[in-house]
Amino acid sequence: MKGRVFLLGAGPGAPDLLTLRAAEVLKRADIVFYDALVHPQTLALASRAEKIPVGKRCGSRSTAQQFINKRLIDAANRHKVVVRLKGGDPTLFGRAQEEIDALRGAGIDFEIVPGVTAATATAAELGLSLTRRGLARHVVFVTPRTAKGERENDWVAAVLAADTAVIYMGAGLAETICAELIKRGKPKDTPLVLVENATLPERRVLHGTLADLPEFALKAGSGPATVLLGEVLRAAHVDGTASSIEELEVFLKHA
Ligand code: SAH
Repeated sequence: MKGRVFLLGAGPGAPDLLTLRAAEVLKRADIVFYDALVHPQTLALASRAEKIPVGKRCGSRSTAQQFINKRLIDAANRHKVVVRLKGGDPTLFGRAQEEIDALRGAGIDFEIVPGVTAATATAAELGLSLTRRGLARHVVFVTPRTAKGERENDWVAAVLAADTAVIYMGAGLAETICAELIKRGKPKDTPLVLVENATLPERRVLHGTLADLPEFALKAGSGPATVLLGEVLRAAHVDGTASSIEELEVFLKHA
């Protein structure tokens, strides 16, 4: 028997930010390989499935990608519905293409189910639009992080060229991001927001400018964090639910 592998987007955190299609596939799943950031309630929808963590968080142990690819292929030879459950959208910074290539190579049927990505989830929480007539006509989703042995990529040029930049996996590289962007001409006072744990009760939002990024990264905890940069961020507002006094102070300093 050859089953089908679903590369399924779990959304950014809150379990109700899941598509109906994803929920339906999870209900039918025989086996689920899930990422570290997937919410337990989302996982619980796969009530009859065997659930296997293959999570990757920076700095912590993770299952090597080739091993995950192999396990997906093996699972598809034994089960009808195999799910690879990934945080956010599976096609963004989730190594989906490596899995797709491996599945194709093994002649295994697959399907991608999109999810809400961190960029749009954070924009929603900040109550702002990533594009704006007359101000922001392009948005770049970028990461400065490269895997061992991976070719360096000029992410700085991408950020400089974009009206709005959304930086994934950037909190641990805050010093570099800040220094490189300023060195190459991005104004220090470009509005910037760091959102940690978007859509979850532990959410933290830090508003300021590009120059504040290293300080913000130190203040952020160990949750996933996204950095948004650009003029549209001036419209971001702090609502009472997420902001602590400290965050409010940072916000007022730059308001
Ligand atoms: N495929 C995912 C991204 C995976 S890379 C997506 O589409 O969202 C992991 C990065 O995503 C984190 O370092 C962070 O930048 C971002 N991220 C994921 N969940 C997040 C959350 N709840 N809040 C803020 N950023 C998040």
